[in-house]
Amino acid sequence: MKITVWGCRGTLPTPGSHTLKYGGNTTCLEIRNAEGFLTIVDAGSGLRYLGKKLIQENGLDEMCLMLTHSHWDHLMGFPFFVPAYFSRFRINVCGVQSARNYMAQSLARQLEAPYFPVNFEQLKANFNFSCKGPGCDSCVHLKVESISLSHPNGGFGFRFSENGRRFVFLTDNELGFQHPDGLKPQDYVEFSRDADLLFHDAQYTDEEYVKTRTWGHSTYNEVLDLAINANVKRLGLFHHDPDRTDAELDRIVSELQNKAAARSANLEIFAVSEGMQIKLE
Ligand SMILES: [Zn+2]
Ligand SMILES: [Zn+2]
Repeated sequence: MKITVWGCRGTLPTPGSHTLKYGGNTTCLEIRNAEGFLTIVDAGSGLRYLGKKLIQENGLDEMCLMLTHSHWDHLMGFPFFVPAYFSRFRINVCGVQSARNYMAQSLARQLEAPYFPVNFEQLKANFNFSCKGPGCDSCVHLKVESISLSHPNGGFGFRFSENGRRFVFLTDNELGFQHPDGLKPQDYVEFSRDADLLFHDAQYTDEEYVKTRTWGHSTYNEVLDLAINANVKRLGLFHHDPDRTDAELDRIVSELQNKAAARSANLEIFAVSEGMQIKLE
């Protein structure tokens, strides 16, 4: 599979000179399976740019869309997703059944007047809320498994597998506090076990977390522990705090790399950046 990052910022978009390297758009991933079939994860502001690219792609008429949860930063790009306005596209809204129930509502509600001038019924694309795509019961494109996140209002993390490679995506997950429906840190370790690639929410330093505990996000050190305990091969820090500058992220990554080396961990660590492409094959 091939993963392309269209947004990795947390909370809200942050354009500006301090975020040029890692990017300011909120969560959106493009995942292509070995045949090139498209799965989109989350509809943050990065989705707008992905949509502009997809409209140019020859032969593309079907895709799967999955949402981790319905917080605004993971949904705000949807009204500006150009393929939603063309009848030639079939958009399978995927996920476990409980997630699909609220996704239909969430996508429609944010288009209600007076928040947006076009309502959901006016979109031209063919939306399928009962598909058998990724995250659904009998996926034909990628193997997708899900896990409940520890986050205010809940949510889902995903594990994508193809040809023996595993990509685990856990954003908006608080390892240091168990929210309703959330699980214990060890459960996320097991879910991430031996992953080739893990993108995990890493929003706060230990100092910041004193004030932000229960907000739904993890610290850099907690995520490092999880990745080492789970024997993950590559760790991508994700959901960057809106106040986090490129320079601060560079420093944090290098500190974590030093800590991993001191523990003799065979772990590659980086901060996820917008535009990044990773192939797992
Ligand atoms: Zn978020
Ligand atoms: Zn959230």
